Amino acid sequence: MQHPFLEEDFHVKWSTLVPEAIEADIRHALAEAREQLAAIREAAGVEATYESTFGALEKATESLDHGWGRLQHLDSVCDEPAQRAALNAMLPEVSDFYASIPLDAGLWQALKAFGHSAATRDLDPVRRRFVEETMASFIESGADLPPEQKQRVAAIEAELSLLTKQYAEHVLDATNAWDLVVTEEAKLAGLPESAKAAALANARAKGLGDDAKPAWRFTLHAPSMMAVMQHADDEALRRAVWDASVKVGAEGDFDNGGLVWKILELRQEKATALGHAHFADLTLVRRMAKRGATALAFVEDLHARIAGAFRRECAELAAYKAAKTGSPQEPLEPWETAYWAEKRRRENHALDDELLRPYFPVDRVMAGMFELTGRLCGVRVEPLPAVFIPRGQRPTETAADTIEVWHPDVTFYDLLDAASGEHLGSFYADWHPREPKRGGAWMNSLHTGLPGGPHRPREPHLGLIIGNLTAPLDGKPALLTHAEVETIFHEFGHLLHHLLSDVEVKSLAGTNVPWDFVELPSQIMENFCWNRAALDLFARHHQTGAPIPEDLFARMIAARNFMSASAFMRQLALGKLDLELHTRPGHYRGRDWDEVDREILAGYKMPLKTEPPTMVKRFNHLFSSPTGYAAGYYSYKWAEVLDADAFTRFEREGVMNPATGRAFRAAVLSKGNSAPPEELYRDFMGRDPELAPLLVRAGLAASCVLRMVSTAAERPM
Ligand SMILES: [Zn+2]
Repeated sequence: MQHPFLEEDFHVKWSTLVPEAIEADIRHALAEAREQLAAIREAAGVEATYESTFGALEKATESLDHGWGRLQHLDSVCDEPAQRAALNAMLPEVSDFYASIPLDAGLWQALKAFGHSAATRDLDPVRRRFVEETMASFIESGADLPPEQKQRVAAIEAELSLLTKQYAEHVLDATNAWDLVVTEEAKLAGLPESAKAAALANARAKGLGDDAKPAWRFTLHAPSMMAVMQHADDEALRRAVWDASVKVGAEGDFDNGGLVWKILELRQEKATALGHAHFADLTLVRRMAKRGATALAFVEDLHARIAGAFRRECAELAAYKAAKTGSPQEPLEPWETAYWAEKRRRENHALDDELLRPYFPVDRVMAGMFELTGRLCGVRVEPLPAVFIPRGQRPTETAADTIEVWHPDVTFYDLLDAASGEHLGSFYADWHPREPKRGGAWMNSLHTGLPGGPHRPREPHLGLIIGNLTAPLDGKPALLTHAEVETIFHEFGHLLHHLLSDVEVKSLAGTNVPWDFVELPSQIMENFCWNRAALDLFARHHQTGAPIPEDLFARMIAARNFMSASAFMRQLALGKLDLELHTRPGHYRGRDWDEVDREILAGYKMPLKTEPPTMVKRFNHLFSSPTGYAAGYYSYKWAEVLDADAFTRFEREGVMNPATGRAFRAAVLSKGNSAPPEELYRDFMGRDPELAPLLVRAGLAASCVLRMVSTAAERPM
């Protein structure tokens, strides 16, 4: 029997991955994985080797990871009813299977016996690290607990899955339950044409309005909502949208207040059972921060450094509104802040997205980015011809080496080492929105290869980068906004981390690094989008080929840090709220949510006339999955510290200096998780990270040396 989802061809035959094959393929992979785990249990004992234990564990789920990964990928780019139904039918069994691995007593005995044996001393450092990391991860999941407690931890996990799913459904349902239909065009004054067109199309799709009597439908989805909050002159319209948005997850059947308490309680119980003071300590033990207290101190320290600038920005905005309206200066209403900030930004910097778009045709941006990374990292990217064959329609005479894509928009590339010509990896790029495609942008791995050895050729990696960027229109190439260009660079940074990985153990390769380190390779790439020399490589007018004019570039740079303390503070506030709730849940338990919010975030929020209710009830990052970003929201800022600091070496040595690029490839991009991230960082920078470059880049500090909160000294006793 054929199992298309489990086929190992490097060039995936997307046309054969039909929904009818899903159940049989995934069941086959599950059975295989169970058999292989059983073999590890049986082989336990004196004869055990790395290959028969940890090596076998890694291989045991390879086929399932492979098939399930392809299915999840198709779910996110080509959603369709039969496929979705087949995925949902298999989902509980697959998640249960993965969750059961660390709680399998026989398996754990076999692994532990080898992990504690003298044989591990002879392993190379990467395999030894894999043994240590795997043992730690099993222990964090409860492998060492007595049977009764193990059962309790499993029950907590199951309950958390259920409660967090309910939480997410409440947010989604409440978001979708609201809309606002406008039938008088005058009320839309101030909105950009693109936002009006989207609202009109949205109404049409719902059967509302016609040519004679048009209607515009607004929702609480980000693009619709942001356009209204930033641009609508009509205050009543903004207020209506704001009112509805803060009630998401906070009213009637959708009220998440009680669920959050239960989720926090279960997380605390799990942490206690596993010997940690709180959920933050449990979650961060193998991340750079190591402890909840370190992450919290990091957030509070940054808060103290930018609080003055933040207060100034708030006062300036209030003064601006007062001057424009001729009214006395007072705190703004929450539905006024984005609107007046946008007005002020336009006035100060005479800049909007449309002015820059002609300089960012997508193909040129990609080609320039390949050129830049080629120079820096010593690689070459080559596009290859690929064809789209609809699923289920693969002609029998198709050549064996045909490269297929899952949609005609998708392009395919090889990445080669420029010096040796060696094939390091390949990737797909899929940049424009389609209805059955999930929103946002991401990078994913489809296959992790292995470095070559004396008796083995290199096995290349395979990955993909996806976005929902401006599509081509009227025969013109897709012209991107500057933020979209940053998105391409960001995802390509993740991709390089994957494709340039040179790690012997697949589970430690590429982007399998601690959460607060994973955004370093991606975010550092964004810096090139603000650098004149780098921009001149890829930002060229789509008709004339001219670089961005100097005055436009100057305005772009000047606008970069407009109200940067406010954006910075918002991230800190979310991080602070997250860490407080996951380090001291008992301190807040059972109290009124808005009061808790006020207490935690004193000094972190803009003074407003009407106080917004807490966002805890719609904070999907923290509460829509058993762990997710819980106790980890600070990572966004943490990684920004790393990327801003690391980029100073490029600035110092030349942003296109091949020696610097190759050093970054050698110390970070090729290393995956084969060594602790703080070591990799020190290898590249010759020291620990410093805070100052981020604050300087955001225009919030003059240049000086500030040490990041210690990442190494504070370890649990
Ligand atoms: Zn990212």
